[in-house]
Amino acid sequence: MIGLPATQRALVAESAKAPHQIKEIPVPVPADDELLIRIRYSGICHSDMGAYEGDWPAITKFPLIGGHEGAGEVVAIGKNVKDWQVGDNVGVKMRNNVCLSCEFCKKGFESNCPHIVNTGYGSPGTFQEYMTIRAIEAAKIPKGADLASVAPILCAGVTIYRAIKESNVHPGEILALTGAAGGLGSFGIQYAKARTSY
Ligand SMILES: [Zn+2]
Ligand SMILES: [Zn+2]
Repeated sequence: MIGLPATQRALVAESAKAPHQIKEIPVPVPADDELLIRIRYSGICHSDMGAYEGDWPAITKFPLIGGHEGAGEVVAIGKNVKDWQVGDNVGVKMRNNVCLSCEFCKKGFESNCPHIVNTGYGSPGTFQEYMTIRAIEAAKIPKGADLASVAPILCAGVTIYRAIKESNVHPGEILALTGAAGGLGSFGIQYAKARTSY
């Protein structure tokens, strides 16, 4: 990959609860269906703590590079990927791979896929300078967007956004948000307010 470094810095935990260490590791090469992304900003989610502490051993791989809410730009593209260009802004979400064949996937509930691979759990996450992600799971981010503000939306934001959408609340109705002063709650207040206009 022309113009890209061979190695990068990543925050690595060798095993559950082992100290995080900044290590020099290879810059990954994207598979045919993947993007290589230069991460500019990453949020830290409470679920990162769960991965690090080994709370979900079935879906977490060690050595672990955590992080599942990131924003950056595309720097290389797998040969089968369409509709992405080098230089595009891109967002990284928790989900990085599903089977697209099981009952959940077919109904649009891919997050419940028993074969799911999550970014920052089963595949290396956003706590590194460069990462690969399946192009189909990457989020398009408009040019000129403030990537520092975008990063935490990719987990905390979409989580509460989906909950509000599923609640089917309409303008004029009351929405109760438990823990509204927290991270998701503060996003929820903003989304609920915006939703009064449509
Ligand atoms: Zn999260
Ligand atoms: Zn599936």
